[in-house]
Amino acid sequence: MRIGRRYPALGWMQIASALAALASAPSRGARPPADTANREERRTFRPIADDPAQQTTVLYLNLEGATTHSGPDDSRTGQSSVCAAKIPAFDHRPYGDDAASVASQLTQLVQAYFADFDLQVVSKRPTSPQPYQMLIIGGDPGLCGLAEGLGGLAPLDCQDSEARSVGFVFSAPLTELIGVALVAAHEAGHLFGLPHLRDPCDVMTNALCPAGTKAFVDTFSAVAPDHEGRCGLREASSYQWLHERLGPAPPADQTTAGCNTSHAISSPPIVLLLLIFWRRQAWAKR
Ligand SMILES: [Zn+2]
Repeated sequence: MRIGRRYPALGWMQIASALAALASAPSRGARPPADTANREERRTFRPIADDPAQQTTVLYLNLEGATTHSGPDDSRTGQSSVCAAKIPAFDHRPYGDDAASVASQLTQLVQAYFADFDLQVVSKRPTSPQPYQMLIIGGDPGLCGLAEGLGGLAPLDCQDSEARSVGFVFSAPLTELIGVALVAAHEAGHLFGLPHLRDPCDVMTNALCPAGTKAFVDTFSAVAPDHEGRCGLREASSYQWLHERLGPAPPADQTTAGCNTSHAISSPPIVLLLLIFWRRQAWAKR
């Protein structure tokens, strides 16, 4: 059964094992001067950060395995616009003996990428009626009919209009838990409308980060011209995008406010990741 319109290969990420060394956070300098066209493109952002009614967005890391069915994304039912498959439960054994401990570590690692934003990462399925985004973590890309070496798969929700999107992280080939977390952060970025960027140290790139550090970077970089999934953007800042889409993180205490702290995470040694995404169009056109 057709599960969605396929677009050309959308890029890939290669992270060499030599990048284990810790590195400093990427620079967060001022935006480069922009021409009129770019400012126009930037206005596609939806400014919700100051909306007091904005609810905390929830990202559910599904480690239990799932059988997905074709259709518009629905995290409640496992309906997916990009892959219909039976995904096995996440195998914690490469990362630790205790499943609960590994799940907690993974949740924290993914949460750390989004530390400055109003996003709650959980590994238990939410029971509240509030919509949640879902990443199914487990198995290998062959389950979705994809080639080996693909780290994850997610629809690109350019308008961040889908509240119950479903993405995938193929953890079976990944030997480091931080690698699983990095792929999860990347695919979640697609769910929130981020295309691939050119900054090699941005979570949303498929490039090698010389410094060994990946983060959502607070400077504008070019949108990667590797596919059709550019969301009409010439350049973007993943950090500012998420800040605007998700809102700033609520204050952790009386002295700490969101969007003022470092958001860099050291990248791990990973043999090879290829991250692709699919543009969410097939079902919208029906
Ligand atoms: Zn991607």
